[in-house]
Amino acid sequence: MIEVENPATGEIVGRVPRLGAAELAELAARGRAAQPDWAAAGFAGRAAVIRRAQKWMLDHADRVIETVVSETGKTWEDAQLTDFGYTVVALGFWAKQAARYLADERVPSRQSPLTLGKRLVVRYEPVGLVGVIGPWNFPIVNSFGDCIPALMAGNSVILKPSEVTPLSALLMAEMLGECGLPAGVFGVATGDAATGAALIDHVDCVMFTGSTRTGRAVARAAAERLIPCHLELGGKDAMIVCADADVARAANAAAYYSMNNAGQVCISIERAYVEAPVYDEFVQRVADTVRGLRQGPPEGAGSVDVGAIIFPPQLDVVDEHVRDAVAKGARVLTGGHRRAGAGSFYEPTVVVDVDHSMELMREETFGPTLPIMKVADTEEAIRLANDSPYGLQASVWTRDLARGEALARRLEVGAVCINDAQLNYSVLGLPMGGWKDSGIGTRHGAGGIRKYCRTQSLLITRFALDREPFMFPYRRATTRALGLFFRALYGRGRRG
Ligand code: NDP
Repeated sequence: MIEVENPATGEIVGRVPRLGAAELAELAARGRAAQPDWAAAGFAGRAAVIRRAQKWMLDHADRVIETVVSETGKTWEDAQLTDFGYTVVALGFWAKQAARYLADERVPSRQSPLTLGKRLVVRYEPVGLVGVIGPWNFPIVNSFGDCIPALMAGNSVILKPSEVTPLSALLMAEMLGECGLPAGVFGVATGDAATGAALIDHVDCVMFTGSTRTGRAVARAAAERLIPCHLELGGKDAMIVCADADVARAANAAAYYSMNNAGQVCISIERAYVEAPVYDEFVQRVADTVRGLRQGPPEGAGSVDVGAIIFPPQLDVVDEHVRDAVAKGARVLTGGHRRAGAGSFYEPTVVVDVDHSMELMREETFGPTLPIMKVADTEEAIRLANDSPYGLQASVWTRDLARGEALARRLEVGAVCINDAQLNYSVLGLPMGGWKDSGIGTRHGAGGIRKYCRTQSLLITRFALDREPFMFPYRRATTRALGLFFRALYGRGRRG
């Protein structure tokens, strides 16, 4: 059994089984057996279950949020806005949009003279059994959230939650069961890293969210089996504050988007580059706001602003990054230590006088820290922002929206917000995914559900000719005519 601990209090809040190979094989067999009927239920049949789940979430909001808070030690508001709020929206979104995204598509037959008049169709077929492997920072959003489109596409799904936060996933299974999901269609494989690795041997497609290091291992295992894998990995999101920015808005956002979920957000603002003319004001405002944040074990709504470090060993990473920066000349304006007393907490921390020799500016810290660096101009900011192996997201802050967009287009990341951050994640029609070491593929949008499907192309010939004109015995005449046709169509100006 795995003991689940509340990192804010040290209390054991649950125990879950560590599934072995035989149990995993059984879960997979049940999933495979149930999948054809689930696919046959059609979009309307599946949407009915998913819509009931949305209602269930709303009816059980407190229980959902309490479960997330109990195993993460995050604040009530963090759980409510993300794990709960996102999922309510996502259930409705995929219930409605799946049919549109996965509808048959017509391809024009004019694209080749050989196919003129034929019906060309692209269709999407569920892959069968999808494995979703999730991290501990958002035990519903980045785990169950990715199961919803997979289910709506007609797949069975096995979710492997992090061993640190499995209770929320089990609650989602209970929810789907109560909402009429046929038995076997959704399974939860509680366990550890070995369970995640073993799951890949059973499924037809892997959706993985987690660290870049584990992502590489997952990609290798999926490659061995030649199954598709989609990777949403770590990030080191840069914020670029231009001299003409609304400094108050930028500073408030910097404090919020670096400290929400105690900085344990893949798309946290992890570093800020601020143009010299507004640097002092920006730093002052951020430090003042962060100094005023309340931290501690959450005791209901509104009790604290910054919660626990969910996975206690992560405290060592955060501490190491701050110490390394200080040793190389950085100054801590507020925070900078593990919080004394019980629970797994790191003080909300603002650091200045930083540079790219420091881990705090280069590695994913995944804690409540914000290093701020002064830059001479936006050219320097863009160069530094792109000087990273990661490419998840970034933000640009300026009153000149055209300039902001031009800067955004030069950033090597999967998404850029202008005068905002993180909010793109809540728009499910907008693809989200990383470049470089931050991942392969996207979630959300059409690609966020088509990735759980196999594509089948259909070519349908309606005319009752006894043969095509290029077949025997007309082949010689037809190919000659086709040659002339192609030359007339494409050959102009290419003589010699
Ligand atoms: P990990 O990579 O450590 O673990 C992620 C999941 O993979 C866990 O369920 C883990 O199981 C499992 N796992 C571990 N080893 C293997 C393996 N060899 N094969 C298959 N599965 C395995 O990530 P964390 O849980 O530490 O999550 C934090 C990371 O997630 C950060 O880097 C963060 O940026 C990233 N993330 C990315 C997001 C994005 O959308 N791009 C969103 C959210 C987080 P177990 O925990 O039981 O060991």
